[in-house]
Amino acid sequence: MQPLLEVRELRTHFELGDGVVKAVDGVSLSVPRGRTLAVVGESGCGKSVTARSILRLVEKPARIVGGEILLYDDAPDTKPLDLLAAKDKRLRQVRWADIAMVFQEPMASLSLVHTIGDQIIEAVRLHENVGKQEARDRAIEMLDRVGIPDPKRRVDSYPFQLSGGMRQRAMIAMALSCRPRLLIADEPTTALDVTTQAQILDLLQDLQQEFGMAIMLITHDLGVAAQVADEVAVMYLGEVVEQGPASAVLSHPKHPYTQALVRSVPRLGQRGQDRLVAVRGTVPPPYERPTGCRFHPRCDSFMAGKCDVTVPVRVRSDEIDVACLLYGEEADR
Ligand code: SF4
Ligand code: MG
Repeated sequence: MQPLLEVRELRTHFELGDGVVKAVDGVSLSVPRGRTLAVVGESGCGKSVTARSILRLVEKPARIVGGEILLYDDAPDTKPLDLLAAKDKRLRQVRWADIAMVFQEPMASLSLVHTIGDQIIEAVRLHENVGKQEARDRAIEMLDRVGIPDPKRRVDSYPFQLSGGMRQRAMIAMALSCRPRLLIADEPTTALDVTTQAQILDLLQDLQQEFGMAIMLITHDLGVAAQVADEVAVMYLGEVVEQGPASAVLSHPKHPYTQALVRSVPRLGQRGQDRLVAVRGTVPPPYERPTGCRFHPRCDSFMAGKCDVTVPVRVRSDEIDVACLLYGEEADR
């Protein structure tokens, strides 16, 4: 089946005075329809920049310098829309109506001087031809649906009047108010306590069932990915090194980086392992990308004269796409 969204060779670079930081440098991934893709990786690997690039929400000094982001229609065999090539006007239609986004800190994306209700009403009316009362009813319905108590009163609250958990619920209500086909959630629960975090993840899964939307969940937490994801894409230094079904990637990872990440989480790692093993070494500085395979300075399976020279391309191994020379084909880039 066609995916809902396909990112091909995305490159988003930060053009700074003294050099270029290639935050996203050849990301390819696909988001299946109506399902959850978790994008995982250590902080600074380019997850958030990838997410923001999809809606072209990157600002100077960041610039999208290459790639394609293809949004497929529901009807089969229609030409996808390339979001990177789309006119601004078309892209504004896609935002909210097709793809909506929630962030780690809702205060950053909610307006502080407008009520929650007015913000939802504005989003709905921008995209749909509905009257003010109908949009307000929709706002109350959505606030109710995301578990905000007394929504008829809360609709007139300002963001600062809500707790962190309630603000995140309000943000989700706003994001879903136009019934998007894809919700991109960037660390939506990271700022919340464990109980609220679990509630919000449950809520997202319920809403996915109800509305049939796809979710792209950005998280550094493999436990979160294991809890909600159908598919997992693993990022390292600005590229996706492995993507496949969550059960396969998290229980039998192919890429040595994913293997090290999984070992570092006691719940996911092998039984009998009581010591937390972090991924060996440190992430190289942003200006210096290692030659060949970007993971080679930290890899336990490093093959001298090969991994430091040859850039691995992605190959299919079992049900997993993996970019590592242990699994076959090579390419010079
Ligand atoms: Fe390790 Fe080589 Fe595979 Fe890179 S290509 S992950 S260095 S084995
Ligand atoms: Mg981030």
